[in-house]
Amino acid sequence: MRARSVSAYRILDRKREGQRLSRPELAAVVDGATSGAWGDAELAAFLMAAAIRGLDEEETAALVVAMRDSGELWELARDVPGVVDKHSTGGVGDKVSLILGPLLAACGTPVAMLTGRALGHTGGTADKLESIPGLTLDLDRRRCARLLEKVGLAIGVATADVAPADRRLYALRDRTGTVRSIPLVVASILSKKLATGCAGIAFDIKCGEGAFFSGTKEASELAARLVSSSVGLGCPACALVTDMSQPLGRWVGHAAEVSEALEVLSGGGDDRLRELCLELAAAAATLVGAGADRPALERALADGSARASFLAWARAQDATPAWCDRPELELAPATVEVPAAAGGVVAGVRTRELGMLLQEAARRPQGGIDHGIALHVKRRVGEEVGPGEPLAILRLGAPDASLAARVGACFEMLPPGSAPGPLRPLILERVPGGIPRAG
Ligand code: URA
Repeated sequence: MRARSVSAYRILDRKREGQRLSRPELAAVVDGATSGAWGDAELAAFLMAAAIRGLDEEETAALVVAMRDSGELWELARDVPGVVDKHSTGGVGDKVSLILGPLLAACGTPVAMLTGRALGHTGGTADKLESIPGLTLDLDRRRCARLLEKVGLAIGVATADVAPADRRLYALRDRTGTVRSIPLVVASILSKKLATGCAGIAFDIKCGEGAFFSGTKEASELAARLVSSSVGLGCPACALVTDMSQPLGRWVGHAAEVSEALEVLSGGGDDRLRELCLELAAAAATLVGAGADRPALERALADGSARASFLAWARAQDATPAWCDRPELELAPATVEVPAAAGGVVAGVRTRELGMLLQEAARRPQGGIDHGIALHVKRRVGEEVGPGEPLAILRLGAPDASLAARVGACFEMLPPGSAPGPLRPLILERVPGGIPRAG
């Protein structure tokens, strides 16, 4: 006990002074977090020192490995060669996982995605999926492998045994203002991804007002470091940095986003959302040398096979047969317009605030989520709206004029007749796929 606390002191002292930590030292930190030998004080001090002084590539890799090895290693690619994973840093209206998974599966590329709950203003894929009656999301290795074998797709929430060190460290980062440290984010995300052992990972790094990292410099650095760390540790990876300066797609809300995903899977839906899904799916397939190229992916959307793949997956994860036969979800009953008082051109959307308002609206006072709460975005950045015409339509349990006004205030308007600025590109940067060197 005494020896451990001396070594913790030395490690903290060295990082505070800006020195590089060795692999055994970083393993000792993670060991301490997992076993409980390091208390919150020591761990919080480590996180703050690492956030301020930084961790270089080698230190980050050592931290990732120690965190990955703190729990179960699923090694999914051993049983299911070519299985890929996609990770998004999260945004408002981001339902890409719900489309990309079944789309790739329909084209013969298996996909396993361990997903999370809502984080801050961003919706969680798991929460969205729970609007499907009966669907179960708990995944352990056996169930994940069985689903991959049966329907080529597994989406769910991992058991607590995957990278348990991250759970403790993440909770402390949340309390100590160290959530936005790039090496700590890389270690957190990658440790969980590598623990499942897919054959390739495509990262979608959101950038813009509604993203975890709003600035292009930080988003770009995160993308580059996730790819280089992943490849350095033997897992092929690539990343796209993509726009999150306004909601993705036309809908925000749990059930509404599942329905919007089904619309895209049926060959329709929003252009920008579909484009992003196709680009990420093609990038993920390329990583593992799979044949799901753009034309094949587009065909799967058009011919109904991607939609059929979603429904086969939902059935395999216990969605009720009645829902799978008629996959429709009800929205909340009250329809509340969000009008543009004077009209004009939408110049920008305060996406973070919008996401927050929707999360709050969906939270039931007695606990749990009202999955039917939704926002239908009628006008996007650069689009004109006449006086009194709707910018958006809310679906709520009961009319709420004050919420509608707060949602309206999230739309930044230029006067009628103004020329809109250039629309931000959907894909801001591509970090090309890296394949680890043999040996
Ligand atoms: N998601 C994670 O899992 N960890 C982070 O640190 C940030 C986003």
